[in-house]
Amino acid sequence: MKTKREAIIVDLDGTLCDNAVRANFKSNNHKDYWPLYEYIPFDKPNKWCVDIMDMADLYGCKIIFLTARPKKYEQKTRDWLIKHLTLVSFSYDLIMMPNDYRYQPPVFKKARIKELNKKYNILFALDDQRANVDVMREEGIMCLHCGND
Ligand SMILES: [Mg+2]
Repeated sequence: MKTKREAIIVDLDGTLCDNAVRANFKSNNHKDYWPLYEYIPFDKPNKWCVDIMDMADLYGCKIIFLTARPKKYEQKTRDWLIKHLTLVSFSYDLIMMPNDYRYQPPVFKKARIKELNKKYNILFALDDQRANVDVMREEGIMCLHCGND
C-alpha cells in the first residue's frame, strides 16, 4: 500500500500573516470593507509560524496554505510568500477561495480538508479562526487554534 505524504495545513490571514495593519485601516478609514486584500503587501510574517514551516520543510513535510482569500488576490499572495518565506525546498501548495464562492470560509475549508485528507497524512493544521478550527477537527484533523476569534 502506498504511504500518503505527510502535510501540514496553514492558514494565512491572522496565522502566517500578521494583518494588523489592515485591521487598523479598517478601524480608521474603511469601516465597511474588510479584509482589505489590496493591502496584503503591508502584512508582516508571524515569525513563530515561519519557524514551524521551516521545521516542517526540513522534515520533508508538504506545506499547504489553505486560505479564504479570493483567488483574484493570488498574485499578491504569491509575491508576499516569495518575499517572506525561507523554505529550503520552497515547495508548497496554495488553495484559495474561488472569486464567486457564496459560502462562508468554514464551509470552504471543510470541503477542501475532506479532499486533502484523502491525499495526505495531515499531521496538523494551524488557524486563527475558531469556526475554521471546529470544522477541521470535525474532519479528524488536529487543528491548533492560534487566534482570539
Ligand atoms: Mg485566518
